[in-house]
Amino acid sequence: MHSWASVDVPRIGGSGPSLRLHDSATGRIRPTAPGPEATMYVCGITPYDATHLGHAATYLAFDLVNRVWRDLGHDVHYVQNVTDIDDPLLERAERDQDDWVVLGMRETALFREDMEALRVLPPRHFIGAVEAMGEIAELVGKLLAGGSAYRVDDDEYPDVYFDTTVTGRFGYESNYDEATMIALSRERGGDPDRPGKRHALDPLLWRMARPGEPSWESDLGAGRPGWHVECAAIALNRLGNQIDLNGGGSDLIFPHHECGAAHAEAHTGVAPFARHYAHSGMIGLDGEKMSKSRGNLVFVSKLRSQGVDPNAIRVALLAGHYRTDRPWTAELLEQAQERLARWREATSLATAPAADDLVLRLRTHLADDLDTPAALAAVDAWAAEALERRGTDAAAPALVRNALDALLGVAL
Ligand code: ZN
Repeated sequence: MHSWASVDVPRIGGSGPSLRLHDSATGRIRPTAPGPEATMYVCGITPYDATHLGHAATYLAFDLVNRVWRDLGHDVHYVQNVTDIDDPLLERAERDQDDWVVLGMRETALFREDMEALRVLPPRHFIGAVEAMGEIAELVGKLLAGGSAYRVDDDEYPDVYFDTTVTGRFGYESNYDEATMIALSRERGGDPDRPGKRHALDPLLWRMARPGEPSWESDLGAGRPGWHVECAAIALNRLGNQIDLNGGGSDLIFPHHECGAAHAEAHTGVAPFARHYAHSGMIGLDGEKMSKSRGNLVFVSKLRSQGVDPNAIRVALLAGHYRTDRPWTAELLEQAQERLARWREATSLATAPAADDLVLRLRTHLADDLDTPAALAAVDAWAAEALERRGTDAAAPALVRNALDALLGVAL
């Protein structure tokens, strides 16, 4: 499907340190080391409640990765999926007496608008599960033929499952113990109690058609895919057998990224599938995680319709570190608006203090596991100095505007 419109990214002179990021598999902050092309796969939305601030925080975090890598001269190959067929989408469509296709298209369109407004650089490939159905079924067929998958012992619905023991390293990405994995699987769409499976944690690869459910013809029989294999197929076919970064919210650590990695590794024999598994924290509201099940979602489109500057939403979310679970509050948005106003005032001066040091600080803080609180504080310090004693550098205001645009995606 088509992605959203890109924005021009200004070039700023010089270069910064290479990017270090936290990796969930090793539990450490490690250097990223992409080649000339940096490959990144970030899991996309299931389009029925786009785009709440939890989504926005995740895509903003990986937008910064994109921007830092670009600033370092890498050609960033970014792929994102849209899970436009899955149980939660069907359940929502049924609840609201809506057509799942129409619901998915409407929410995906809204997501694109929100991403564009937030100035998130678009993925090069933005791929829906439905349009990728052929390649997903093909990967499931290969896993089955290669002995990494099996059909459950069920005459009516011989669904295809992945055997989690085949790679010999299942669990390395999340580092959770088995009891935790089983509990999370049950909580997040898995079916550890399904009779006929070899192991409780084995995830669904292909669900045979049920009456009244959408299904697609394939060599496996009519049906539809599991969620994890959707991402594995879309990523492998566009980014190759090993990628620089697999990203998403921290609720994707298990089972989604663990299973997707295992599918890819079982198919290619190359491990790890991703050199970095990076995860963003959850955004909360009134002391609770923002989630569809709690019904406490704040939507980007709602804020935009109230006239909130998307740059302020961006600054508010970047005021906290991407890995921390953090609350959304009215004060947070107010502070971001005040911050933006000060930055705009400072960069509209004819002359200001030299900004080369600020640019270096921005690059250094972002390279340090996307330390946006420190980066924003550095901009505050420069702006305060500019407003207090003006300075004499006529090029500085434009340099700061360009640096904030290029590195933080904030338009002043
Ligand atoms: Zn995914």
